[in-house]
Amino acid sequence: MERTLALKTVKKVGETVTLCGWVHARRNMGKIVFLDMRDRSGIVQVVIVSKELDSVSHGALPEIRTEFVLQIEGIVNMRKKANDALPTGSVEILATKITILNTSKTPPFEIENEDRQANEELRLKYRYLDLRHTRMARNMRLRHTLVKEVRDFLCAQDFIEIETSLLTKGTPEGAREYIIPSRIYPGTFYVLPQSPQQFKQLLMVAGFERYFQIAKCFRDEDQRGDRQPEFTQIDVEMSFVEQEDVMNLMEAMMIKTIQKVSPEKKILATPFPRLTYQAAMERYGTDRPDLRVNKDDPHELAFCWVVDFPFFEKTEEGGWMFTHNPFSAPQPAYKEQLLTKENIGGIIAAQYDMVCNGYEVGGGGIRNHTPEALRAVFEIMGLSSDIINERFGHILEALEYGTPPHGGIALGLDRLVAILANEPNIREVIAFPKTGDARDPLMGAPSSMPQKALDDVHIKLKN
Ligand code: ASP
Repeated sequence: MERTLALKTVKKVGETVTLCGWVHARRNMGKIVFLDMRDRSGIVQVVIVSKELDSVSHGALPEIRTEFVLQIEGIVNMRKKANDALPTGSVEILATKITILNTSKTPPFEIENEDRQANEELRLKYRYLDLRHTRMARNMRLRHTLVKEVRDFLCAQDFIEIETSLLTKGTPEGAREYIIPSRIYPGTFYVLPQSPQQFKQLLMVAGFERYFQIAKCFRDEDQRGDRQPEFTQIDVEMSFVEQEDVMNLMEAMMIKTIQKVSPEKKILATPFPRLTYQAAMERYGTDRPDLRVNKDDPHELAFCWVVDFPFFEKTEEGGWMFTHNPFSAPQPAYKEQLLTKENIGGIIAAQYDMVCNGYEVGGGGIRNHTPEALRAVFEIMGLSSDIINERFGHILEALEYGTPPHGGIALGLDRLVAILANEPNIREVIAFPKTGDARDPLMGAPSSMPQKALDDVHIKLKN
């Protein structure tokens, strides 16, 4: 069988074709039945007139309901009245043979109706049906295309993609981590990475110079607004660069990839405006200002960079905590103060955030590439030298083996796609997201474990 995709039928007027797909809608009009047939390329109208069908197909016809999987043979005809709303609206297929490949229960919500949406719990429980919606399928394709363009861009710039470990050790980037018990070593745990930060720096020590990864990250945070326990970053690290180099390259990447994947979008200002943290706070009262001129225009993208963040802020207990990332370096003018631990509140970090339409879409920094500087950060945070050695000995040691100056960034892929797709939340651009309260209604996660599984990993539950 040579199969023709719905979208390709427009080029086959007069020919006999075989379609495979789902019944998107069925309309009975007396002697004629219309089926909208859907496949991965789109939707095309099939016209069924009893006398054109063979006897088997004729028998099947009354059974056919929406979401049945069919194979239809028929002739492509021009429509008398074209439907301009449909890319295949100029043609229709006059069916000669219909085979039911599979039946379908009535879905718990309508697939063909994009406007009337079921509640999110139901949509996520039946995500495989929800993803049949044209809008959701479009979002997944947009995400795929964006990732592909980002990969192409970075590969052309001599970056290589390297996967880093997911079963790893805790790292101090501010979020609570998911922990995985070790079966082989009772009482010990792996941690899922909140970002590949340390690995990407170690890859710079290893001499790769230009790394990227479409990286899964995990953060066990209380669900604040539109967050996901697991999310994806475009994670980048480069050697022998200064702040401006990373920012310029990432800016060029955004401009180029957005032009390709969403040409309807207008980036308001290039180069992206650069605001200091202080100016942003004074002028807009936030460090992620929404600089759009017309917020009703769905195609406006207002990017900016926010720079010159204070490195440390005071904790409630009166100590110091980094504002972004302990691995960031201070700006060159503050290097000495970090090492001597003077003017701690005034030290400015070589840290930059990319903001779009009021969302932080990424952040990165130039890193401390000497062990003294990184050690000073941990000391300022009040960690004892035992704790520092125990938790960060590996990276401090690595920095002693010819580490090049380096820096990088991570961009939130989910957020970027959501902005380009004009979706209000990132769950709409993730194939299998968790609910706002961190559950997966489809798989039923999280779930309890059989006692044996708990015993294996040496876990005893509290009552
Ligand atoms: N690791 C940082 C984060 O996940 C990003 C970076 O500095 O590259 O926020």
